[in-house]
Amino acid sequence: MRLSVRTPVDRLRAICMALPGTTEKISHGEPTWHAGGRMFAQLDDHHHGADRLAVWLAAGLGDQEAPVKSDPRRVRARHGEAPTREASMKTIDIHAHLVPRGLWQAAAAKREWHGFRHEPDEGLGTFTGGGKKTAFSSPKVRFSPEERLKDMDAQGVDVQVVSIHTPFFGYHLDGAEGRALARDVNDEIAGLTKQWPARFAGLATLPMQDVKLAIEELERAVTQLGLKGAELDTHVAGAQWDDPKFLPFFKAAEAMGAVLFYHPQPQHNFLHDRIAKYGLFNSIGVILDDAIVVAILIAGGVLEACPDLKVCIAHGGGPACYAMGRMDRGWQGRRDAQKIPQPPSAYQRRLYYDTVVGSEKALRFLIDEVGADRVVLGSDWPFVPWHPSPVTWVQGLASLTQDEKEKILWRNLEALLKL
Ligand SMILES: [Zn+2]
Repeated sequence: MRLSVRTPVDRLRAICMALPGTTEKISHGEPTWHAGGRMFAQLDDHHHGADRLAVWLAAGLGDQEAPVKSDPRRVRARHGEAPTREASMKTIDIHAHLVPRGLWQAAAAKREWHGFRHEPDEGLGTFTGGGKKTAFSSPKVRFSPEERLKDMDAQGVDVQVVSIHTPFFGYHLDGAEGRALARDVNDEIAGLTKQWPARFAGLATLPMQDVKLAIEELERAVTQLGLKGAELDTHVAGAQWDDPKFLPFFKAAEAMGAVLFYHPQPQHNFLHDRIAKYGLFNSIGVILDDAIVVAILIAGGVLEACPDLKVCIAHGGGPACYAMGRMDRGWQGRRDAQKIPQPPSAYQRRLYYDTVVGSEKALRFLIDEVGADRVVLGSDWPFVPWHPSPVTWVQGLASLTQDEKEKILWRNLEALLKL
């Protein structure tokens, strides 16, 4: 009888070593493989990635054993060419926006789209709805899916988790109109994920102005459309997320395993009404709202009531983690703050935070506060101009370990979103 004794590691080793110019190095008992002076393959903590990596590398070599379903985009190790990142790495971006196609079609036909009206102006013009005006800082908001994919390739992003551009949440609409908007958008995002399942995952938008309808649409989005959860504003037309009326929604999301991604609106936040100059409504206003929603979810007892709720906050949660010491002091001295049994900082690790923080020092601080297993890649596509790309930025940070980078670039989101 012939028994196969090759482990995933053996298979990976055989494939790596078959590449010309490859050397194996053993460090702390673990092998890594190098070519052209650069490491191109290594094992993950538990060797789980070895089998998959072997498959991808094998596909690149034309190995007959490679499954036909192997994604050729994954193949980084080619004859004589050392890849720029580990072959097993699948970069996943939680923070990537969509301006719905229906909005542009309505603009071209001079029609309204769920109450949003287009006005020609500089560049792509503006959309007005709910008394707020939105202009665009990037022409990429009109990209076709194919153009978007090319841009993702250029940025080294393998998977975008697509969500609506926040000025179009439409929480100011009546429930039925809000649901119609959400269904349009969610069907479009689901279309992307169905056509390119290896490249896109999606987050729904919901008619939060009507909690019952929001729960129904979340259920449709997750169970029928295959979306991973929902993107939410940091308040619902002025209502705060600790309002008891939202608890059934949180319970439903928790039961579904849906991921809730909180992202404020640049034109509709705490600071916007206070000072509309210098772009502060975006640079500071947006992250202040991120911090406010973190504080409310913690202090308002939402995370206490829903211990398995999966929540990610955009822009690294703004200054939320910087403020935890102060929130803890506030909790110690006040009976009304002790609605939660533990100090606020005890809850900050229950949330996930993206990397759109603007500086290495801020990211390092965030990781030190919450742990690298709670920080995930975000690009804010297409609004933040990264040089050269969000992935390359993270990879080049001297203050992060390789293990931290891998968690941030893909491992955490792969597990959270079950990709
Ligand atoms: Zn954003």
